[in-house]
Amino acid sequence: MTPYQTTNHFLEQGFALLEMEPRYKALLMTPSRELRVELAIEMDDGSIGNYIGYRVQHDNARGPYKGGLRYHPEVDIDEVRALASLMTWKTALIGVPYGGAKGGIQVDPSQLSPRELERLTRRFTEQIGEFIGPAIDIPAPDMNTNAQVMSWIFDQYSRRYGYSPGVVTGKPVGLHGSLGRDAATGRGCLFAIRETLSARGEQLNKASFVIQGFGNVGSWFARLVHEAGGRVVAVSDVHGGIANPEGLDVPALMRYVAETKRVGGFPGAKDISNAELLTTPCDVLVPAALGHVITAENAGQINARYVLEAANGPCTAQGDAVLNSRGIVCIPDIFANAGGVTVSYFEWVQNTQNLRWTEAEVNQRLEEHMVSAHAAIVKAMEDYGGCSMRAAAFALAVQRVKEATDLRGLG
Ligand code: NAD
Repeated sequence: MTPYQTTNHFLEQGFALLEMEPRYKALLMTPSRELRVELAIEMDDGSIGNYIGYRVQHDNARGPYKGGLRYHPEVDIDEVRALASLMTWKTALIGVPYGGAKGGIQVDPSQLSPRELERLTRRFTEQIGEFIGPAIDIPAPDMNTNAQVMSWIFDQYSRRYGYSPGVVTGKPVGLHGSLGRDAATGRGCLFAIRETLSARGEQLNKASFVIQGFGNVGSWFARLVHEAGGRVVAVSDVHGGIANPEGLDVPALMRYVAETKRVGGFPGAKDISNAELLTTPCDVLVPAALGHVITAENAGQINARYVLEAANGPCTAQGDAVLNSRGIVCIPDIFANAGGVTVSYFEWVQNTQNLRWTEAEVNQRLEEHMVSAHAAIVKAMEDYGGCSMRAAAFALAVQRVKEATDLRGLG
């Protein structure tokens, strides 16, 4: 299955619980608009770089399209479609007034100079400019994009359409960004696992964690879970992983990564491969990098009781089925990593009102959203007679999008 097929497979689980009329399915599955743009830029050596960018706007029944922008060599239309659809269900589930979208450029950004990356980002903004805006579609960071990339989008868009901080979120705090946005996805993951564990009579500070990916989401989650007393026993990045069953010194690891740009070789830990990382014994396995990493092939060897989907789409349909059959609780992406879009929403609210909330205020509101979404999932699981967290989450989200669609009408 492709990523988009996987997303639709999970969506169908929600449809089934809701006994959805077939005529709604195509309506709710199909993206509203798909943009594919050519991005020709001058490279530093005078040659011409030619890249392809995408923006898929999946649904806007509940609010403007919203979703991240990914720079990665494997970006393609199918992946962007899948990620855009997930955003529709995530924003509905977490209760922020947005629809779903996603963008991506097929590029390996590590091969580009900062100036080339800036030109590419500005060209992409020009190409999709008329289709985005604070009340239309609001991009945000995702893999290999960050607050600097968001600043370029903000600047390029504002040159043509007027000063518009609300056109992107995940901006730097010095340029209309929100306090707490950088940590938000990792912090949301922390609340998601804390609530899931405590609903089962377990505690975060007695649990061990294995984390795949040490970027924005993975490193913030590692830091916050370590501060909360959890034991991080293994982490990895694109180059490979490290493990120490006694627990890694996360603050020291953060300093090490800041210097060396990789986790490998961290003193006091054993180097392992990314494949080994996924089967390392722990209570909670946290995929926080790419999609489709938990598959029919490796799900049988996973040595965890919980999988916390910090990444988008980390389980294939078959991988997910194996986890379910083994009684491993999977905390689905549309809930687990919704902290990012929640604080993006807070940033946009602050931008549109020209005010600033304190970090404590941001974190407290984020916690309220995550706790209440968890409670709604638990109730739906009871109402539907013991389904998976994922099926319950999709059913809740679909119900909300369908209601908004019905109320607005197709006119
Ligand atoms: P990032 O670019 O900051 O970090 C990605 C990390 O994954 C890096 O450490 C990289 O080395 C590692 N990685 C890349 N390929 C890998 C591989 N093959 N094996 C192991 N590790 C690999 O990205 P991010 O923003 O932290 O996003 C990570 C995931 O979280 C993505 O799936 C993204 O869609 C999802 N997500 C991000 C946000 C956000 O706010 N940034 C919000 C919701 C979901």
